Amino acid sequence: MSGESERKAYRTESITVTFEARRCLHAAECVQGLPEVFDPAKRPWIQPGNATVERLVEVVGRCPSGALRYELVDGGTETPDGSPRSPAVPPGR
Ligand code: SF4
Repeated sequence: MSGESERKAYRTESITVTFEARRCLHAAECVQGLPEVFDPAKRPWIQPGNATVERLVEVVGRCPSGALRYELVDGGTETPDGSPRSPAVPPGR
């Protein structure tokens, strides 16, 4: 056995969604939660650019098997510890 993970990554500017097919339980939480992103009829079947980061985080978090995960890209709209941070704070004058 190679022991290598078969996790695939789907990236946008602000988030990376990863998917490991052999963990998937086909519970379809993802497809029901965000059909515009998770569509098994499309290639690639995960299109994270079709939803906001907030919605992706919410729906990826519902995956019961750990097949789906996400990583926020540095400079995104949220920090990994959950505190929201706007990248476009207007400078005080
Ligand atoms: S929510 Fe997770 S386990 Fe369910 S179909 Fe999507 S990837 Fe598979």
